Amino acid sequence: MKFLCIGRNYVEHAKELGNEVPEEPVIFMKPKSALLQQNMPFYYPAFTNELHYECEVVLRISKNGKYISEENAHLYYDAISVGIDFTARDVQSELKKKGLPWEKAKAWDNSAVLGNWNAVTAELDRKNIAFSMKKNGEVVQSGNTRDMIHGFDQIIAHVSNYFSLNIGDVIFTGTPKGVGECLVGDELEGFLGDQSMFKIKVH
Ligand code: ZN
Repeated sequence: MKFLCIGRNYVEHAKELGNEVPEEPVIFMKPKSALLQQNMPFYYPAFTNELHYECEVVLRISKNGKYISEENAHLYYDAISVGIDFTARDVQSELKKKGLPWEKAKAWDNSAVLGNWNAVTAELDRKNIAFSMKKNGEVVQSGNTRDMIHGFDQIIAHVSNYFSLNIGDVIFTGTPKGVGECLVGDELEGFLGDQSMFKIKVH
């Protein structure tokens, strides 16, 4: 199992970090060990002083595939939720400055939080999914998949040109604007529409 993550997939978020809007999806990965197991505590990592949350819609891959066409991409995932792509922003800024890979900022243990899964149904309007996250009870991020630069189908088609997709893989589809810092003691709760999908505390 692996996490395939899309960076800079919302124009407003790319702008808030001073990044260009990409022509093709920006891809990075997290290993299986990045998963925060359900009901396990999340600890603020020792190697950062600027831990950022990025709340994102996540898709669960349900079929093995490679070179998947956009037309068939919807056949390859069966569940949807929201998650957090935790990022050590200070570490990432240093790596970006030096042109180095992002793993130390993005792919560390427990940096991927997943909510409960909802089954994807034929009725789901994939281009109009509202999602949000609250920090200590206040909404800090809210987005809608209609604002994605690259939609689900494009992401799956593009990613699968490079990486075979396997059952159980998870795709993080990018964060909307409003990323920010969290501190020890903060509580983060993610929503798909009005439905609470995860709630974690930073220890
Ligand atoms: Zn992200």
